[in-house]
Amino acid sequence: MVKTDIAIIGAGTAGMSAAIYAKRAGKDVIMFEGYMPGGQIVVTPEVDNYPALGKVSGYDFAMGLYNQATELGTEMISANVEKVTRKDGGFLIEYDGGEVEAKAVIIATGAKNRKLDVDGEEKLTGFGISYCATCDGAFFKGRTVAVVGGGNTAFEDAEVLASLCSKVYLVHRREGFRAEPEKVAKVRGMKNVEFILNAKVVALKGDGKLEGVILEDTKTGERKELALDGVFVAVGQTPSTDAFAGLVERDKAGYIVAGEDCIAANGIFVAGDCRTKKVRQLVTAAADGSVAALAASEYCSRD
Ligand SMILES: Cc1cc2nc3c(=O)[nH]c(=O)nc-3n(C[C@H](O)[C@H](O)[C@H](O)COP(=O)(O)OP(=O)(O)OC[C@H]3O[C@@H](n4cnc5c(N)ncnc54)[C@H](O)[C@@H]3O)c2cc1C
Repeated sequence: MVKTDIAIIGAGTAGMSAAIYAKRAGKDVIMFEGYMPGGQIVVTPEVDNYPALGKVSGYDFAMGLYNQATELGTEMISANVEKVTRKDGGFLIEYDGGEVEAKAVIIATGAKNRKLDVDGEEKLTGFGISYCATCDGAFFKGRTVAVVGGGNTAFEDAEVLASLCSKVYLVHRREGFRAEPEKVAKVRGMKNVEFILNAKVVALKGDGKLEGVILEDTKTGERKELALDGVFVAVGQTPSTDAFAGLVERDKAGYIVAGEDCIAANGIFVAGDCRTKKVRQLVTAAADGSVAALAASEYCSRD
């Protein structure tokens, strides 16, 4: 059985920051990543709000963290953690491919995109439905698309797509937006972007390939069809915490309950976007990573 001091689940900004701090505290660290190191930020073309870095691509930011964590000796396991249980005063981590025992666990599994939750969404994903404008926008060059959502991601997506597509609709279920006013103003000023407000997508049209959507007016209930080549879904996120149900307390939305000390339970620490908190950003994920790692290191060193 492979044993370590600290098992970190998730190699996003929080997990990799935790690895850097835990290694510098002299601990053995195994970090699990189920998809690819970097987490959500990898696909973002430009990050310009991380203190002292100026403008940097999401990929370069993530790789900087990854290189720093692995050069310090963090061991990476490319696998999805399926279950964590308490065992002999420590923890048993089960992943698709094996098991590891750890004295302490840091959960840094972040969040993933929420779905529209309409029939056919899964079948049409990759055939007109996308959750990442930066990744898939180029496939829709010169075409007509819609972005669904009203937060920062929706407006960032609309901006990216407006530079590629002939027409971009921004569909939002209310009149107000959660996005920052500057982002809204920028997109409002783009000639090929049209806002469709008080509207929600209730059905997808197309067999094997998206042809359009049915929109319902959230005030009148009136329905209309909109012909589209693509739909980019940006309606928020869900924390990736199902594997830890029963192990830690989660709130209604699934976020793991912990304060700024990042302590979720005895020997279990939580860092980044999967923790209950107000601001979910790179800088707060990195801060959580450092707090969780130092607390976990102290926990491992106790008598
Ligand atoms: C489009 C977009 C643009 C953004 N732009 C900015 C920005 O400009 N500035 C900013 O500060 N913030 C930005 N953010 C927010 C920022 O990306 C997040 O706050 C940050 O990524 C959170 O880091 P994290 O490590 O908590 O989670 P994540 O980045 O979500 O990383 C979690 C990792 O855990 C892995 N994982 C999940 N479950 C398991 C499991 N069971 N086993 C193994 N691995 C698992 C995932 O694959 C993922 O790699 C943006 C977010 C998005 C979506």
